[in-house]
Amino acid sequence: MTGKKFSRRALMQGAAGLGTAALIPRGLWAQPAARTAAGPAAQLPARGELLIRGATVLTMDPAVPDLGPGDVHVRDGAIVAVAQRIEAPGAQVIDGADMICIPGFIDTHFHLWNALFRVFIRADVPALGYFPVTARLGPLMAPDDSYRSVRLGAAEALAAGVTTVHNWAHNTRSPEHADAELSGMRDMGIRGRFAYGTPVGMADDAPMDLYGLARVKKDWMPDKDHLLTLGICSRNLGALTIGGSAAAASRGVLTIEQIKRDWDGARALGLPITMHTSGASPVMELEKAGLLGPDVQFVHPLLTTPEERAIMKTRGVSYSTSPQLEARRASQLGVIQLGELLEAGVKVSLSTDHIASISCDPFASMRILFALHSHRIGAKVPLTLKRLLQLATIDGAVDLGIADRTGSITPGKRADLVMVRTTDVNMSPAGDPYEAIVSLAMPTNVDTVIVDGRILRRAGKFTAFDHAKIVAEAREAALALRDKAKWPS
Ligand SMILES: [Zn+2]
Repeated sequence: MTGKKFSRRALMQGAAGLGTAALIPRGLWAQPAARTAAGPAAQLPARGELLIRGATVLTMDPAVPDLGPGDVHVRDGAIVAVAQRIEAPGAQVIDGADMICIPGFIDTHFHLWNALFRVFIRADVPALGYFPVTARLGPLMAPDDSYRSVRLGAAEALAAGVTTVHNWAHNTRSPEHADAELSGMRDMGIRGRFAYGTPVGMADDAPMDLYGLARVKKDWMPDKDHLLTLGICSRNLGALTIGGSAAAASRGVLTIEQIKRDWDGARALGLPITMHTSGASPVMELEKAGLLGPDVQFVHPLLTTPEERAIMKTRGVSYSTSPQLEARRASQLGVIQLGELLEAGVKVSLSTDHIASISCDPFASMRILFALHSHRIGAKVPLTLKRLLQLATIDGAVDLGIADRTGSITPGKRADLVMVRTTDVNMSPAGDPYEAIVSLAMPTNVDTVIVDGRILRRAGKFTAFDHAKIVAEAREAALALRDKAKWPS
């Protein structure tokens, strides 16, 4: 590596407001090579007939008992049977010994478009924080940049056992960007909802591009594999309490009339809505305007009142919590209200938010939630490890309206399955499977990932993608964006 040393002093100078040029080690961000073409998409593996043999199976379906050991039979992408012993001559047998088989994780709020910016971000340097970086570089992204970032994010999600992702695309700069993000999701074989948004930096009084949205719906829905669904991500209502002007630029801050205009447009197309609540809760104002319903998902449950929680329960609104990043916020901005929401009967699900400044780790998300709940609420609102795994799987499917096809290991549902090794150093000797999954497991223990019957990862490796190529393409795009921005300067 060449260039300046990465000195703490330089970081502190940057944090004190001297700009970013002084603190960025150029050598760390080497110049990009000549740009290569992204992709082309690798052929996804065929759906065959599979028999997972002798795994500990945690079904997340109250009607299908957990098994230890047991078998799961998959044919043409569907779960055919779950039982202690299944004979399926001709099926490809996947040895489940020393493995825990769970439904794939469902991540209900994930900004895949900015995954590539992780190369620039420092969590402890405000000038290099998530909001300044995404607000500066996001407006320069071309569709191909979005494509590369989505593939990078989807690759990491899959590696962590996430088989469904709600791609919260709040930098949809044009319908072509939407096409690029959807292509990235499709090419990676992941299940998910694409939430069409507005571009970073767009004027708050400009409406979202409903014509573009309608065109994307016409062109993409339903997709050939029935893996993708469509919704919108809304800009914020009311002031933000985090991220300052950079956050406001990337999220938008609208009036209730402007919100109504965008939401009415989405609803006319039959599309669900998601919105960040990064500040005072917008629930009462939305309720007064008659805008709340079961097609609405909020993100970041930190500041709701009992009255608001009662309204959300009545209206069927869901809340996605992103524990890894919410736990980083100053406590005066609220605490994760998992206990309060569960007590009030509000639908809750789990999310990563973004991987620009954390890694995708649903195991850590469950652990942090459990720790914070134990710390603040404890036995007042009982929370079991099994309940946490439900939040990360079947409750996410309920939130996204796809519980009829995924979220549990249930005959008739699509086969979104994850096998976790229990023989690794952090997992052995194996004991209670819920303890292993919630308290001990890490993404590196994820051995096999199956989405819709396709084996996308086996023995901890992608079966059809060149991960190094996906990373190189994303890095190359990030560095080119930095140069385009003449940043740092
Ligand atoms: Zn978010």
